[in-house]
Amino acid sequence: MREKDMQIDQKIAVLRKNPILASLPHKLVSQIAEHCELKSFAAGEEIFRNGDEASKVYVLLKGHVRHPEVNSPMHQFGIVQEVMLEGTIFGYAGLIEGRGSRVISAHAVTDTEALALDGAYLRSLLRTLGREGHSYLQDLSRSYAAHEYAVSGHTGWVSVRNAGKVYDPSGKHVVAVDNCSIEIRPGEFCAIVGPSGCGKSTLMNSIAGFDKLTSGEVFLDGKLINAPGQNPKPGPDRIVVFQNGALFPWATVLENLIRGPVVQGRMTEREATEKARDLLGKVGLADIENLYPGSISSGMCRRVEIIRGILNDPGVLLLDEPFRGLDALTKTVTQTALLELYDLSRKTVLFITHDLEEAIYLADRVLVMTTRPGHIKQTIEVDLPRPRDARLLTQPEFVRLKELAIEAVHEEAVKAFNAGEKEFA
Ligand code: ADP
Repeated sequence: MREKDMQIDQKIAVLRKNPILASLPHKLVSQIAEHCELKSFAAGEEIFRNGDEASKVYVLLKGHVRHPEVNSPMHQFGIVQEVMLEGTIFGYAGLIEGRGSRVISAHAVTDTEALALDGAYLRSLLRTLGREGHSYLQDLSRSYAAHEYAVSGHTGWVSVRNAGKVYDPSGKHVVAVDNCSIEIRPGEFCAIVGPSGCGKSTLMNSIAGFDKLTSGEVFLDGKLINAPGQNPKPGPDRIVVFQNGALFPWATVLENLIRGPVVQGRMTEREATEKARDLLGKVGLADIENLYPGSISSGMCRRVEIIRGILNDPGVLLLDEPFRGLDALTKTVTQTALLELYDLSRKTVLFITHDLEEAIYLADRVLVMTTRPGHIKQTIEVDLPRPRDARLLTQPEFVRLKELAIEAVHEEAVKAFNAGEKEFA
């Protein structure tokens, strides 16, 4: 690593490439510029290591930085592996929530230059702005991951932070979810399993915007969508598919599919029709576009609803036990259709299920919830290749993961049963 000289105006120009720093008062940006140093790193050089003391925040000037272990289960900050865009802040996660040490490492892939700034200085400087400064700091921490995703062109980052929900606080006081945190990466297929009544639907409803949290926050792509002081609202950025279905019975399958994108002005009727027909064809439903929901099977309805969800282009697709109640054969066909649609769209999916085999089969990551009050007890990384098909179900690694999930959920189900919950998984 070498230190180089750089004009203050040039430093300011680099800092202003970052949207949060750019929104600070000019005087502050100048002060930051005065305190930061230009550092250059040769290709292959380590910038910082996991466990190092975290004191510096970096703003990329040019080059390519990689966080090699970002995808490991330890690091659920939603940070992408590669940093390549000028103005991107990296090395900030170590300072978030007052952690003193690095939680990930970073190295230069190519020759790289970055402005290094003392994190404590940045904090104290922002605090001089009082409440406003505090909110800049919060933005900076949150946007760290969001900004990283913007670099990679991905959206659909769901961040549930210390969420809590108490039903009927002045009466029965049912603590459904307590201090529950989840990070779902853009494009990730994440399943949540856990005993009945552990708070899975509560959590999903809080992301969907159907119900207000009692504590904590939910963000979608860095935007706050649920917090105690807010009135959450559902939005087209979060499409929910339930087991009971929600197709308009008076409209044909095709009309059901094209309505959303046409009404929202995202597609012309012709474009939407073409796209809908294409997706229907991909999951074996080419012949049903003129039928009404009442005249097709429930498995078909589910497939149509998932297609409708994808056509609406949400940030995240929320599926709450969508295949519950389907017979075994229909379920397999519908799961395969979902996998195909997921491979085509790579939307972020949050999938709630009781069926552990289904969770492992579909998801990249299975989160096991504790018994009520629910929070995440265990994460099972499903590192099985895609595209997947039913042959996977008998492979040793699949069976191993399934056993892991059964063990984790069973333990919680027993606790729930002993605690007097009526149903258990
Ligand atoms: P899951 O989806 O895991 O089965 P839920 O999120 O539906 O669990 O429910 C979590 C807990 O909260 C359960 O004990 C349930 O009885 C309770 N609960 C859910 N909704 C309400 C409500 N509207 N009022 C009171 N208690 C509720």
